[in-house]
Amino acid sequence: MPTATATQTRKTGQPKPLPQPNSDFYQFAATLGADELAMLKRVRTFMETKVAPIINKYWVEDAFPFEVLPAFKELNVGGLGIQGYGCPGGSQLLVGLVAMEMARFDASIATFFGVHSGLAMGSIALVGSEEQKKTWLPPMARMEKIGCFGLTEPLVGSGTGAGLTTTAKREGDTWVLNGQKRWIGNAPWCDVSIIWARDVADNQVKGFIVENKTTPGFSVEKMQNKIALKVVQNGQITMKDCRVPDANRLAAGAQSFRDTARVLRGTRYYVGWETTGCQMGAYEHALKYAQERLQFGRPIGSFQLIQDLLAKMLGNITACQCMVARAAQLADEGKLTEKQSALSKAFTTAKTRETVSWARELLGGNGILVDYNVARFFADAEALYSYEGTYQMQHLIVGKTVTGFSAFV
Ligand SMILES: Cc1cc2nc3c(=O)[nH]c(=O)nc-3n(C[C@H](O)[C@H](O)[C@H](O)COP(=O)(O)OP(=O)(O)OC[C@H]3O[C@@H](n4cnc5c(N)ncnc54)[C@H](O)[C@@H]3O)c2cc1C
Repeated sequence: MPTATATQTRKTGQPKPLPQPNSDFYQFAATLGADELAMLKRVRTFMETKVAPIINKYWVEDAFPFEVLPAFKELNVGGLGIQGYGCPGGSQLLVGLVAMEMARFDASIATFFGVHSGLAMGSIALVGSEEQKKTWLPPMARMEKIGCFGLTEPLVGSGTGAGLTTTAKREGDTWVLNGQKRWIGNAPWCDVSIIWARDVADNQVKGFIVENKTTPGFSVEKMQNKIALKVVQNGQITMKDCRVPDANRLAAGAQSFRDTARVLRGTRYYVGWETTGCQMGAYEHALKYAQERLQFGRPIGSFQLIQDLLAKMLGNITACQCMVARAAQLADEGKLTEKQSALSKAFTTAKTRETVSWARELLGGNGILVDYNVARFFADAEALYSYEGTYQMQHLIVGKTVTGFSAFV
């Protein structure tokens, strides 16, 4: 966007180039090996050249940019972190850095990918049978089939562990699903839904792979009027006597809500990466603006109070990067606990709210115009703060661990 521009002038009178915004201040990307770094760079180029130029338009229109899907598929990142079944594998650090890189340009695209690859494919990889993995993961890795993850309901959000109302009733080799799911990302247009429902026989939560486009009784209504992550299409799903074969029940490892929580353990700290990327995007746009915007005849970036805002933002970003990078190491070693994941999610999303509001403040009035980008990150941070378990729920998990007392009601 046009702003009055500034350059720093040397004593010689020659203009001195200003530093390029770089939110990877402690060089986390440099810790990847050559192959993984090359993949990260491919993602960066894709986001920079295909997504960044068009994303504000889609954000304003509440629409998903299907035009970028062919190039997205060519990245070969579907099922990143999952070994075998046509998936590319990769370290947890790469999985995280890719999510961060996507969100650095747009948190909706990172969320679309996180729901498909992390939540939907991750459920099948973690708690599906060998047969289910062979059937579903390869086409999902190629992104020929896109997935969603249906846990939240209109009347049950934070309380899904205890109060799911969607029911599953076994009739011979078939399960009959009834109920509603709300807020389900990708649901209005995707192909495969992972639906969590309560088995009426044993009262335990079980997971089902539903081919939503061809299953009678399955319908989705797109949710309207969101003020955050507007590019992600969220849906309210209604299931009326949906019949799903027993072969589609996530049978290997999904016997109770504990197994759903195992999936969320990985994806919650993944939100930590996404939200850190969201801060990075806001910071980099704000810094560039500070270098270019003139007031009182000088770039606002030369004012002490503006530099204070920028240093605080970079401190938040770096603290979050350190936290999620250590969580990735623990995940790679198979040691990441639900509690550690919860603390990462709560801390990084809370810091994101601070960072994006400082970035918005730095832009003055232009901070509330989508055209200057920061407003998009500012609004999107609100959804990251609440989804996949709110700040309060994460702190209740951490609080129970450190005190030994459960404060859950
Ligand atoms: C953009 C977006 C995308 C989403 N995508 C998906 C998706 O793909 N799939 C899916 O299944 N879900 C999805 N969700 C749902 C999301 O996970 C829920 O919104 C979230 O878990 C919170 O539930 P709720 O909105 O019903 O809030 P509620 O549970 O009603 O909570 C309202 C408030 O009460 C607080 N609260 C609740 N219980 C307690 C307690 N015991 N103690 C203290 N405070 C409490 C909460 O922290 C919150 O501040 C998405 C949500 C959003 C906004």
